[in-house]
Amino acid sequence: MKRMKCPVCGKKFEPHRARQAYCGPYCKKLAANRRQNEKHKAARAAARGTRTCPTCGKVFTPKSSLAVYCSRRCRNGSRPKVQREPSPPTSEDASLEKVRAYLALSASERYARRDELSYKERRLAMRVWEKDHLGRCVSVNLQL
Ligand SMILES: [Zn+2]
Ligand SMILES: [Zn+2]
Repeated sequence: MKRMKCPVCGKKFEPHRARQAYCGPYCKKLAANRRQNEKHKAARAAARGTRTCPTCGKVFTPKSSLAVYCSRRCRNGSRPKVQREPSPPTSEDASLEKVRAYLALSASERYARRDELSYKERRLAMRVWEKDHLGRCVSVNLQL
């Protein structure tokens, strides 16, 4: 019989049966477990629903129930590499006002206008957003 390559461990093997896809029972079980895992992952993702990333406005499926940003890059508030360039110095107060106006926009407007903010202002926007967000959570707790 023709030699086959096991899709799990990559080992070459001679199948004993015509429909044998894996080198042995161990790899067969592993492959079945993986398929189960994929199913579970999809089910968990569906249960969590979707969220809107505060940095880029993208609707994403959070990897954990605590995820706020779509990616590590958005959490760090950094720009994609292509757009990275030194930004001119701006005063903190002027930036703060700009940032507040920016945060007042809807997620899709923020996404469309994200390039109007410098790297520093985007960092500031993240801090303000987080402060506002945490502040709200605290006041809700106090009312309980
Ligand atoms: Zn194998
Ligand atoms: Zn994002």
